[in-house]
Amino acid sequence: MTALLDQYAAIVGNDVIDHLRQLAAPLRGMKIVHVNSTREGGGVAEILNRLVPLQNELGMDASWEVISGDRRFYQCTKKMHNALQGNRDDISDNLLRHYEKINFLNSVDLKSKLEQADFVFIHDPQPALLLRNCPGRKGKWVWRCHIDVSHPYRPVWKYLRQHVELYDASIWSLSTFAQPLSHPLYLIPPSIDPLGEKNVDLSEDEVNGFLDRFGISKKTPIITQVSRFDRFKDPIGVIQAYRLVRKSVPVQLVLAGGGATDDPEGARVLKEVRSFAGRDPDIHLLELPPDAHRTINALQRGSDIIIQKSLREGFGLTVTEGLWKGKPVIAGDTGGIRLQVINHHTGFLVNSPEGAALRIRYLLKNRDILKTMGEKSRQFVLENFLITRHVREYLTLIVALIYGSAERIELNLPSPGATVS
Ligand code: UDP
Repeated sequence: MTALLDQYAAIVGNDVIDHLRQLAAPLRGMKIVHVNSTREGGGVAEILNRLVPLQNELGMDASWEVISGDRRFYQCTKKMHNALQGNRDDISDNLLRHYEKINFLNSVDLKSKLEQADFVFIHDPQPALLLRNCPGRKGKWVWRCHIDVSHPYRPVWKYLRQHVELYDASIWSLSTFAQPLSHPLYLIPPSIDPLGEKNVDLSEDEVNGFLDRFGISKKTPIITQVSRFDRFKDPIGVIQAYRLVRKSVPVQLVLAGGGATDDPEGARVLKEVRSFAGRDPDIHLLELPPDAHRTINALQRGSDIIIQKSLREGFGLTVTEGLWKGKPVIAGDTGGIRLQVINHHTGFLVNSPEGAALRIRYLLKNRDILKTMGEKSRQFVLENFLITRHVREYLTLIVALIYGSAERIELNLPSPGATVS
């Protein structure tokens, strides 16, 4: 076993790692390429940062490519993202032609690598049109959708669907997101990496050091929401909830986040949030650089409760991160959050600032319940949402796509086209 796999075994147990190695054995040497549109910021980058090294560690030849675009491209893909999450906002033909052009330009550089790969995983809509620009492809292509597409704005989904249909399969985080398509659909929820800077254990001294640095007192309870400044994350609703709680219980609010390079709206939303927060010294509005993983880790650990009051959410890695740190999470009753926040066990699902305030007050006044819920939360993530489970499901999907409708799959035999060492 490699040193890295040993470290995971210490957390999840040897059986889990042995299972991964068994699944990976027939896939050794296989060329796998992941493509998305940002190296840092947001959940997709967070996952790829660990998934790719682990696939390599297990013997595959995995790599990660990032497409580049200009302001208009991201304006288009942001509109598309919002429309897929339900915004009734049309995208002009002009903007769509630009989206197509940027995909084409990116394919010029990536084409030979993508066409040679055994498996290509395209993450989200931004690079989705690379497929049609790689006519000589030899491997299987899978579209991985990280977005809540349960109620898409139809005209925009109709446009994207014609491109997504061309893939060999697609992956969705939840069954309610999966849209009818003519290829196999797989359900794979995301995960977090317990060894990454964002989630490794930290000493109390280190956590306190971060809190001091931001002028956050340990004497007053802390509630925290970490997210990009995005309206779907409802930062204004979080401040409203905090103000309601303050009427009866002392509390501080940390709203921490930065932008992703593929999200052009962040600065505008941050400005709105700043103005709504006013000069309240107990609201800590922290603008963080994209690599502030340890800082986020410390803020989550230093908090009493984690909030994620999203109005729409693909999955909500910040929820998983909070649960993993033994904190109850109070979060919007939407999307993938529902897989993670189990009412009265790992936290509370809420539908309004009033609902969030009620639950925050309840937990701050019932410390024993807060503690028990926190313990359950960590165990729940250990069993369901760590990267090792995620890798296992990717490997299973690859095996399934290689063997198609074969009646028998022998995991110890080399797969067609795979190199065996
Ligand atoms: N994140 C970060 N810096 C920020 C805001 C978020 O590193 O300023 C991280 C956060 O800790 C989480 C991921 O980015 O790991 C966000 O994933 P999530 O699924 O919660 O939301 P998304 O941004 O993908 O909508």
